[in-house]
Amino acid sequence: MTSTCPPADALSALVDDALPPAVRDALLAHSAACPLCAARLAELRALHDAFQDLPATPLGFDLGARVIARLQADAPAAAPRCLPPRPHWLASIKRFFTDVPAWRAALVPLAGTTAALAFGVVLGGMLLIEDEAMPSAAPSATLVAMSLFDAVPPGNLCPRADACAPKGSPR
Ligand SMILES: [Zn+2]
Repeated sequence: MTSTCPPADALSALVDDALPPAVRDALLAHSAACPLCAARLAELRALHDAFQDLPATPLGFDLGARVIARLQADAPAAAPRCLPPRPHWLASIKRFFTDVPAWRAALVPLAGTTAALAFGVVLGGMLLIEDEAMPSAAPSATLVAMSLFDAVPPGNLCPRADACAPKGSPR
């Protein structure tokens, strides 16, 4: 088995036809290319077919009721606490495979937030660096850069005569 081979539980679930179609197709594609998994899958299918060929034997009594009665008789009188029932192993496998897309989808907003924060830090750093590099006689680079956020950015057409410059100062 290589490091990318699926677990035996997944192959068993594949034989039981209990996987979502996308997971099933991925396992079939891997098994077609991996001789180890193909052999294991063939063994599991043979075992599955052998179980299917067994004759149905009626018990004639309610086995579930007897098991429950035996368990209750063997249980300690004062159990410290009740544990929640463990999920079936197959349900755990299904949940793992179906939660992977949701897990990936949760990374998208995180990546966007990280990119936005990094972009903001880089832009802020550029403002500080340009401010230090500019001679003192020139207008402040910070003010020039911040003018990009004016109502009308530099180089654009003014919609009105007084929109691009404050009143009383020619621009
Ligand atoms: Zn494999």
